[in-house]
Amino acid sequence: MTAVRIPCSAPGLHEEAADVRAAIERVLASGWFILGPEVERFEGEFAAASGARHAVGVGNGTDALLLILRALNLGAGDDVITTPLSAAYSTLAILMAGARPVFADIDPQRLTIDPAAVEAAITPRTRAILPVHLYGQAADMTALRAIADRHGLAIVEDCCQAHLATANGQAVGTLGSAGAFSFYPTKNLGALGDGGAVITNDPDLAARIARLRNGGQSRRYRHEEAGINSRLDELQAAILRVRLARLRAWTDRRRALAAAYRAALATTSTRVPPQFDGGHVYHLFVVRSRHRDALQQHLRDRGIETLVHYPIAIPDQPALAAVAAVCPAARVACDELLSLPMHPALTDADLAEVCAAVADFHKD
Ligand SMILES: *Cc1c(COP(=O)(O)O)cnc(C)c1O
Repeated sequence: MTAVRIPCSAPGLHEEAADVRAAIERVLASGWFILGPEVERFEGEFAAASGARHAVGVGNGTDALLLILRALNLGAGDDVITTPLSAAYSTLAILMAGARPVFADIDPQRLTIDPAAVEAAITPRTRAILPVHLYGQAADMTALRAIADRHGLAIVEDCCQAHLATANGQAVGTLGSAGAFSFYPTKNLGALGDGGAVITNDPDLAARIARLRNGGQSRRYRHEEAGINSRLDELQAAILRVRLARLRAWTDRRRALAAAYRAALATTSTRVPPQFDGGHVYHLFVVRSRHRDALQQHLRDRGIETLVHYPIAIPDQPALAAVAAVCPAARVACDELLSLPMHPALTDADLAEVCAAVADFHKD
């Protein structure tokens, strides 16, 4: 096995290391670890950075989705239309809420949920649409908003790969009822463990989610409703505050790397999915190849790590065997997609080496 020289992501500490260590020390010295000043400040700072009125810190991105669904009173007997191409957690959150996932295929170019397929999937049981802003690019929110308004549906945005992304200049997470974010270490804004948040402009929804994440308590030891236990902790919030201050710059770096990839790969036969929205934040940089597995091996032999997001369409997962789905475009994508190294610490030299290796593959 060739050692990895150019990793796909780099979730450890970089230029912010000293500030993160100081933040950890500050929390240790405070002796306060759950729901305190760090979470409160982070919520305010994250809402402001995201262009939303409210943010609520939670345990992870999956719970963020679940809590939005619960706060919208979605559950048993309700259908939620979602995409077959995402982390399976997008769909697992619907199942956790007790609702039924219904899959609408992706747009084969944009790779996010196809609005026409969403409209075709609507029945009297449909209550919400759960689009995923995949790889950091917003789904077609203009079309989805129009469909949701026409049919009286809620929109729950999975923003777990889309920190600071916009759709036609508007912040993701503020286009529907609420947006769910993950701070899993490799995400654009990553903790050093699990973490998540919900953003929304609706004060009542924010208050309900803040209560639901904390066991449904309206005040100490009074459980107004059966909530869950899913809180962002003080240590992760303190770490996230340090990194949030750098997120704009890191996002600019991701966009510059993506532009460099596009320029360099344009002359190769590897297909690069088009960019549909300038608000793309490039959580991942994906290419497509009919010889994906061979290309991945070719890069691995040169010490370049790549990943596949995702190898299996969600309805094809054994856990979803009971749900029928027609999604040919997603299945083709799952066989062709390859994620090249993409993270703010990736150097220009390493990017050039990746591009040369991709170009070289097609000379074989
Ligand atoms: C990471 C991710 C999730 C789940 O987030 P966790 O924090 O791991 O629970 C959900 N949806 C998408 C699109 C993701 O990328």
